[in-house]
This record gives sequence, structure tokens and C-alpha cells, in this order.
Amino acid sequence: MTKILKGAEVVEAMNAEVAASVESLSAAGVVPTLAILRVGERGDNIAYERAVAKRAEKVGVAVKNVVLPEEASGEAVLQAVENLNTDEGVHGVLMLRPLPKHIDESFVRNTLNPKKDVDGITDLSLSGVFTGIDTGYAPCTAQACMDILDFFGYDLQGKRAIVVGRSLVVGKPAAMMLLDRHATVTVAHSRSVDLATRCRESDVIIACVGAAHMIDADCLAPGQIIVDVGINVAEDGSLVGDVDFAAADGLVDAISPVPGGVGTVTTSVLLKHVTHAATKSVGCHCE
Ligand code: NAP
Repeated sequence: MTKILKGAEVVEAMNAEVAASVESLSAAGVVPTLAILRVGERGDNIAYERAVAKRAEKVGVAVKNVVLPEEASGEAVLQAVENLNTDEGVHGVLMLRPLPKHIDESFVRNTLNPKKDVDGITDLSLSGVFTGIDTGYAPCTAQACMDILDFFGYDLQGKRAIVVGRSLVVGKPAAMMLLDRHATVTVAHSRSVDLATRCRESDVIIACVGAAHMIDADCLAPGQIIVDVGINVAEDGSLVGDVDFAAADGLVDAISPVPGGVGTVTTSVLLKHVTHAATKSVGCHCE
């Protein structure tokens, strides 16, 4: 039988941890606060912003929304980041991306104070993922993939793992994290050849492509553990992952569902990072 790696179970455990930190911080007079910076009115960004705010409220993390118009200049966005960097009441910043095309995203993201970079978007935070040196926070989605595998007790040592997708947000950091857990890692991308064979011969698949059901029956084999990061809108309007769930269910050992898998854990990782950043900023032993 295929085990469904439900995000809710991971979230429950993480929320208990976050709630304990919030309580300790509160005793020290601190309300952990996440600023969400949005430029423009992209529907996916607004949906994520709302989802984060709802979950933050549940665990006692305050949210400060900063919204700039789509046509905001690069200078205006930089100024907003600077304001958040120096705002002592803000412990973490979530910058919703992509930023509008006229803004140099790479430059702007690197102006964020790494101590507040709870989503792991600065080069310094990313370098920590690659060097193993604790320089900041890992990108939340890649971390969520690992937290799911850890929570359900999968030992990755010596396992053949494939990450399909090589973005800086998910694929590359996830590959590094798998390496840290001593898996033998293949990273596949749009120019990889014979992807189905590479997938079939892997024990673990992390799918982060953004193409509905592209990891189909040809890519799957008994015994596999699959983490599906993809969020795609199917023709009927429903949300589906990168993996053909129906083909996997009953064949592989375990798979995370979409929705209800990586996405929900990602939000909890973010909130955990915020309480951690708040704890560090006030130098209290609140965790
Ligand atoms: P991205 O930046 O567009 O990267 C997609 C990656 O997939 C690229 O590396 C691309 O290869 C690769 N790819 C595209 N077509 C391929 C193909 N036919 N075969 C193999 N690889 C292929 O996307 P992303 O930001 O990493 O996001 C990926 C997915 O995860 C999306 O569905 C997104 O919505 C979802 N996501 C979910 C969460 C969450 O919290 N659950 C968070 C972030 C993203 P090249 O590099 O060669 O172009």
C-alpha cells in the first residue's frame, strides 16, 4: 500500500514547536513578526500572502503587509526593503516573487538583511545551504521537502535520489540537502535526456518542475518515495502536482499529495524561521 505523506501531520508537529517559541517570546515581551512585501497584484502572490497570514495568526506570529503598486520603481522597492531591514519590530521578511520585470530582482533580494531572510532568498543564505555553514535560513520549500522525509522517518543514506528541476528556489537547494543526508543525487532539468529511465532507477524523486503529471507511469517504480512540489492548475481547474498521483498510488511506497503536501509544510517552515529569527534578535533562550 502506498503511504500518503500528508503535510498536515508534519505541520501539527511543527506548529507545536512554533507555539512553544511564541509563548516564550511573549513572556519576554516579544511578538514574532513577519513582514510580507508584495509588489503588484499577482493572484498567486495574493493567495500565498493570505494563506501565510491565516496560518501565522493561528500560531501567534504577527504579520505586517507592505504592498507597492506594480509600477513601483526599483528605488521604491529598495527603500521598502531598507525600511524593513531597520524596523526592529520586524523579525523576518517574505518578499513575494517574481517581482515585476522592470525591477532587478537579484539586486533587490540581496539587499535584504540576511538575519531577516526567513525564506532563504539572499545569496548569503543560499551559500549556507551549499557550504553547510550556518549563515541564515534555507529556502522554505526545499527545507519542507526534507522535513517531510525526516518526519516520516526515511533514511536517505546511500539512496539514489533524483531532483527534477534546478531552480534556486527549490531544485538546487533540495539537491544539496539530499547530498547532506548522504544520498547519491541526480539533478534533472529541461535538457536532460531519458528522464523516465533516470527517474525509474531512483529510490527517491523530488519533482519540482511546474508541469502537471509530467512524472508519469513511465517514471515510476515500486518502492519509491516521492515528494511532489509542483503546483499546477489542471484543465478542470483543480490543483495537481507534477506527478501523476493516480499512477503512483498503489505502486510506489510513499508520495506527498498536491494539495496538502509540500505547500502546507512550506508555510510552517516559514513561520518556524520567523520565531527563530525573533529569538535570535532578542538574544533570549526562547526555543
Ligand atoms: P522554475 O523556476 O520554473 O523551475 C522549473 C524547473 O523545471 C527548471 O529547472 C526547468 O529546467 C525544469 N523543467 C522544465 N521542464 C522540464 C522538463 N520537461 N523536464 C525536466 N525538467 C524540466 O520553477 P520553481 O520555482 O522551481 O517551481 C517548480 C514547481 O514547484 C512549480 O509548480 C511551483 O508552483 C512549485 N512550487 C511549489 C512551492 C510550494 O511551496 N509547494 C514553492 C515553490 C514552487 P531548466 O532549468 O532547464 O529550465
